[in-house]
Amino acid sequence: MSIREWDQDAIRRDFPVLRREVNGRPLVYLDNAATSQKPVQVIAELTRYYRDYNANIHRGVHTLSQEATAAYEAVRDRVVAFIGARAPEEIVFTRNTTEAINLVAHAYGRAFLQPGDEVVITELEHHSNIVPWQLLRDERGVVLRYVPMLADGTLDMAEARRIIGPRTKLLAVTQMSNALGTIVPVAELAALAHQHGTVVLVDGAQSVPHLPTDVAALGADFLVFSAHKMLGPTGVGVLWARGELLEAMPPFLGGGDMILTVTMEHSTWNAVPHKFEAGTPNIADVIAFGAALDYLAALGMDAVCRHERELLGVALERLATVPGITLYGSADLDARGGVVSFGLEGIHPHDIGQVLDGAGVAIRAGHHCAQPVMQHYGIAATARVSFYLYNTLAEVDALVAAVHEAARFFGRVRV
Ligand code: PLP
Repeated sequence: MSIREWDQDAIRRDFPVLRREVNGRPLVYLDNAATSQKPVQVIAELTRYYRDYNANIHRGVHTLSQEATAAYEAVRDRVVAFIGARAPEEIVFTRNTTEAINLVAHAYGRAFLQPGDEVVITELEHHSNIVPWQLLRDERGVVLRYVPMLADGTLDMAEARRIIGPRTKLLAVTQMSNALGTIVPVAELAALAHQHGTVVLVDGAQSVPHLPTDVAALGADFLVFSAHKMLGPTGVGVLWARGELLEAMPPFLGGGDMILTVTMEHSTWNAVPHKFEAGTPNIADVIAFGAALDYLAALGMDAVCRHERELLGVALERLATVPGITLYGSADLDARGGVVSFGLEGIHPHDIGQVLDGAGVAIRAGHHCAQPVMQHYGIAATARVSFYLYNTLAEVDALVAAVHEAARFFGRVRV
């Protein structure tokens, strides 16, 4: 525990939505991999901006604009501290992880990758770390290769060592699978890639909200993540990049704020990171994201991770007792985050989700935007539970009881 003791009741009091009922039962929110809930501190910060100093940033001489600019830029500093970056110039605010990956595919990929160059991704990726590279392949003739996964949902590292080589110009890999919870050894992959001069992008959409992050230790060149999965508002993503890369890359979007000068003939670019933040950014939500970072930093990410791992261990053990259940993912708790993907024999995951919703338990059912993972198992979908810092062992009990109920209910319907 770092600054404050882990006080589960106090934490839950910070999240007003957790007090509500769904279908007459207390809400058990277990869809955190899709988006997290927001504490009062974040909601208050959002309201404070609109109430007290709403103004556009960077261009204003008046007090409100200067206050808004200072608050917005201060969040860049908090991101730097949160991920162990070196300087605020390395932090670009985007709309989300997806936009951050597209930014890299456009600005870095189109400028620095040649036909025949290889981009390596993995079978575990979310669609947002697949499709931008497929688009680049189709447009630029780069070769897209996949490191396969093994049956337990871990990456085939022997294949990774075979596939990543001198032709690999970019490796883009998730640090945690949203579909299975697998934690990928990205530092090892990055070290391997760097032996060949390969640039490494880490998709931290699932890892940064749940694990301590240190970009230097990761060995990444780009790291991307979304505020909304880590207690912050929707509409804010982060691209961290090594400063030299941002300097070398051409802009992604053109418009206001990203320029230094514009004539009718041509334009020159603003300094990084502003070169990559065209137009009015999502000022209010970036500022509120600062409160989310403060909240997580005060708890300590080691403590967050420990808490979720405890819930995961109990959930896996108890769910294994449900008749007809298949649990996907690694049995090694150190190799996975707080995600449980499962199926019940003969029952569509959407039906599981429906029965659980009836019991107030919110989970996700579907392909989780990771269809290659589903294809690996020859299934269309799974039911997915994902934990966060406000979840409790009592909620694991409610989950397990509801899954038993689903198994019984559909078992009865079938006969
Ligand atoms: N990458 C991973 C691993 C994810 O889990 C997600 C979202 O679920 C994304 C990328 C995309 O995030 P966003 O929808 O915030 O852009």
